[in-house]
Parts: sequence; C-alpha cells; structure tokens
Amino acid sequence: MTGNATGGVLLLVEDDDSIGRLVKQYLEQQDGWRVLWLRSGEEAVAELRRHPVRLVVLDIGLPGIDGFEVCRRLRAGSKVPIIMLTARDEEPDRVAGLELGADDYVAKPFSPRELAARIKAILRRAENRTEDIVLTARDVVLRRDSREVTVRGEQVELTSKEFDLLACFLEHPGIVLSRERLLDLVWGMTYPGGTRTVDVHVAQLRRKLDDPEGIRTVRGAGYKLVP
Ligand code: CA
Repeated sequence: MTGNATGGVLLLVEDDDSIGRLVKQYLEQQDGWRVLWLRSGEEAVAELRRHPVRLVVLDIGLPGIDGFEVCRRLRAGSKVPIIMLTARDEEPDRVAGLELGADDYVAKPFSPRELAARIKAILRRAENRTEDIVLTARDVVLRRDSREVTVRGEQVELTSKEFDLLACFLEHPGIVLSRERLLDLVWGMTYPGGTRTVDVHVAQLRRKLDDPEGIRTVRGAGYKLVP
C-alpha cells in the first residue's frame, strides 16, 4: 500500500482554464501528483478506459456530457475514487453526485489546498487500511486487503465510501451509531455534506447487500448493524 503518500496519476476534468491551471499546478508542485487535465467528459471516459488513475477530480458543469453522466459511466466499470467539483453549494447537486457513486465533493470556490486535503483523506481511507482482516456478519464477508465484499458468496460492487461505511458497521455490530458519528468515522470531522449523506449511503448499502433489515434505523438515534 502507498500509505498517506500522494503521487501517481490523477485525472482532473475541468473546462475552466483558470481553475484547471491552478489545481494542476498546485497538485503537481505541492503534492507530487502527475495531473492529467482534460476539459471534457467524453475525453475523460475514453482516457480511463485506456489508463487507470488513482483518483478523479470531476467538475459537474462541462461541455458535452456533464459531470453526473461522467460519474455514472465511470462507475459502470471502475471503483476509482471520485471527487466532484460543484459550482453551487446546493444539496441536490451534492446528493445527486453521491448517489451516482462519487466519494466526496468540493464546492466552488475552493482553495487548491482544501482540495488537496480532501484528496489525501480519501486516499487514506481507500488505500491505507492497516487492519487487513476479514469482517463478517449476516451473509456479508468484507475483505480489507482486497477491498472486496461478498454476500452469500456473490461479489458486490461498492463505492469506496460505501465500503468504508459497511466496514464501520461491521466493526460495531449491535451498536447504535449516530449519523454524526458515522460522518466523523467515515467522512472525517470536517465533512460539510450533512447527515443526509449518511442516509443516502445506508440506503445504497441496504439495496446492494439485498438486506433491508441488516442495518436498522434506530429512531432519533442513528443506525445499527443487526448481528
Ligand atoms: Ca465547468
């Protein structure tokens, strides 16, 4: 595993010249990334089919297909971490992005430094799990080393946030976890997305694991995994 280090190729999809230049320059000079900067979603989808990258920073407002559609197409074949750039700090945009499988979002205007911090946080969670163990409950088996989840032996595709959230529930079987605590544990304390983000991801987990009762809503308190 690569630890907390950044580096490798990061794909930036942004049609705005000044933002694109600023982000590329900052991430390359401060964080040692090689930033592949593309200005359209079509190019990004085509490029990712040819070359895997460690992370994608994806603007929503793009010429041609928009960031939501790019996210949808990427998620059809890849679990690469995706951070969306939203022009408006509006709940519908954020929720739509997360529902499509984005791992996080950063609202414009943002500083390159803030974006860099989010990138590090996501990679840390996605790649730096040291407790390489198998967690199980009900019919679910989660492998931290290979980041694979199976239900009754069948592999289930989860986004990296869904995976981290499931791991968090599996670490605390039978314990009620508040939405705030889950945000803290899975997204990090400074995450401004609000607790609705947790609800969206829990709903996705219930659907993907085909187990609506496994993660129970505890009224006024949060959620718990029923062992
Ligand atoms: Ca744009």
